[in-house]
Amino acid sequence: MRELQKFYIGGQWVAARSGVTHPMIDPSSEQPTGTVAMGDGNDVDAAVAAAHAVFPGWAATDPADRVALIERIQKIYAARSEEMARAISEEMGAPMELARTRQAPAALRHMTNFLEAMKHFEFLRLLGPHAPDDRILLEPIGVVGLITPWNWPMSQVALKVIPALLAGCTMVLKPSEFAPLSSTLLAEIVDEAGAPAGVFNLVQGDGQTAGARLVAHPDVTMISFTGSTRAGQSVLMGAASSFKRVALELGGKGANLIFADADEQAVERGVRQCFMNSGQSCNAPTRMLVERSAYAEAVERAREVAEETAVGMSGSEGGHIGPVVSARQYEQIQALIEAGIDEGARLVAGGCGRPSGFNRGYFVQPTVFADVTNEMRIARKEIFGPVLSIIPFENEEDAIRLANDTPYGLTNYVQSGDGERRNRLAQRLHSGMVEMNGQPRGAGSPFGGVGHSGGAREGGSWGLEEFMIVKSVSGWS
Ligand code: NAD
Repeated sequence: MRELQKFYIGGQWVAARSGVTHPMIDPSSEQPTGTVAMGDGNDVDAAVAAAHAVFPGWAATDPADRVALIERIQKIYAARSEEMARAISEEMGAPMELARTRQAPAALRHMTNFLEAMKHFEFLRLLGPHAPDDRILLEPIGVVGLITPWNWPMSQVALKVIPALLAGCTMVLKPSEFAPLSSTLLAEIVDEAGAPAGVFNLVQGDGQTAGARLVAHPDVTMISFTGSTRAGQSVLMGAASSFKRVALELGGKGANLIFADADEQAVERGVRQCFMNSGQSCNAPTRMLVERSAYAEAVERAREVAEETAVGMSGSEGGHIGPVVSARQYEQIQALIEAGIDEGARLVAGGCGRPSGFNRGYFVQPTVFADVTNEMRIARKEIFGPVLSIIPFENEEDAIRLANDTPYGLTNYVQSGDGERRNRLAQRLHSGMVEMNGQPRGAGSPFGGVGHSGGAREGGSWGLEEFMIVKSVSGWS
């Protein structure tokens, strides 16, 4: 049994003050694997004090020294990558193959992209030839509170910790109470890389206590939050009294627009992407909108892909999907599958209950609904499980209307052989990102949304600027 009872504060591993713990449960077996201490206000205050004390010194360092620190972190992380994959798999249930090939390496990829962005990043800029004595200074915003979810734990943490360090901020990280292991390992890596004491601090805890204290703390200048839309709204309200900057990366309900002229792999690709990480991705294409003339064939193909999708234990090797993270998540998904059936959607694959062969573990059947309407709960709610809703559309206007009829706006997807149509759609879809014809967005492109998906931009130079203030100066000599 693991007992995580210490937090990384001021360069030391210090005992938690609160005495409250949270159980760690293996999502595949539902067996307890240990406990993690839940920080309280005193733990958070100690971490913020450590970060606050060293902020002026860290902010004044040469950016080249900060780059050198990230290079050291990257090297150590790469050497401990297998350990990281195991930690992620254990805490949130990702199968080992996914943990090894996608989850753990995501952080390394983010580090590479931020280091690349730093090569061209100007902390001191000219306003323009009309104002030769003006300068624009980009300065670190201060002590930042970083709050992260469990679904891509190291990807989300790296998208915050790395740019915050490079910007010259000091920080307190509060990861999800469901993903304490990966962040503990990251703290060991940051320590081994020689980060000055107090620059990076880690407090474990839940949202209501540790998270809320971080959000309210007067010495924290900014909160960078990734998580549910519901919690994002609390964070926004909690931060208002101290006028913090709040960067929000929230939920999504992405539409995948498949036209009759799409490539042959489009449906399969969409289903697999929806089920990846057991459907627990904010940018999952969970609403598949299909042009009427290609609809029946698409539903049939989606059924085949769902039935081919293997489900298996997190610790086993192979390309299966694993369990979802927790009992609560499992129950919520079951309730939404039931709602889909009750509201008249046509169940073409999967359904309620565990897949055959499982009598425990938070395993969900890869599920496909057809004849969904955009008004049904399965089309409106972020399900966060391997559940796909297929909706037919009549023409391009109809597809745009359906896609944009959601309070979310993170990633939308378009599949069509017609380049002019793709360009039109990219401009009319209401979302922070549009991915077309299965082409991933390029390295260093900004990740973020609009509306209830939050408005932060993470990654690349945009992700660095999130952690800086823009100072406008005249009379520069
Ligand atoms: P969650 O909102 O329950 O928790 C996220 C984090 O916020 C955790 O660390 C939690 O302890 C903390 N928290 C919860 N309530 C809080 C409060 N009132 N004050 C301060 N902190 C609080 O979300 P989750 O279940 O961990 O993650 C899944 C959600 O995250 C999904 O909605 C998913 O779409 C979203 N997500 C978004 C992105 C993105 O980049 N847009 C990426 C990954 C996940």
